[in-house]
Amino acid sequence: MKTETLDQFLQNLTDKELSFFSKFRQKEFMPASQEKISEELRKRNLTKSKIVQLTHPQEVEDNEKCPRCGSNNFQQIKDNELRATKYGGYEVEVNSQKCRICSYNAHKDQALNWKVWFKQFFRKYSWTKLK
Ligand SMILES: [Zn+2]
Repeated sequence: MKTETLDQFLQNLTDKELSFFSKFRQKEFMPASQEKISEELRKRNLTKSKIVQLTHPQEVEDNEKCPRCGSNNFQQIKDNELRATKYGGYEVEVNSQKCRICSYNAHKDQALNWKVWFKQFFRKYSWTKLK
């Protein structure tokens, strides 16, 4: 969240995205920011029960979207991994995506259902670069 303020970010979310954001990420923020999130929820009349309804687990079929919330607002994550071979080790860069709405990383986090598990197993949520 560098180029835009939290207010702008919140205002640009759909009701569904805002609900997911609040459910999974509100606690990460400082109290003043948490209050801003609550304020935006109030403004839109998103009550607790409405949030539960909007964030009900669903299957997202679209590979370009977050399997948990269906959004496509991602942050790129880079990790280094050491691969062992017969002749020694080499380092690779493993790239994955973390959802900015609900913070789910389909490559690293626990699979949500068997379809996600399957794609995780075949490394569909990450790509590797030699260093
Ligand atoms: Zn998400």
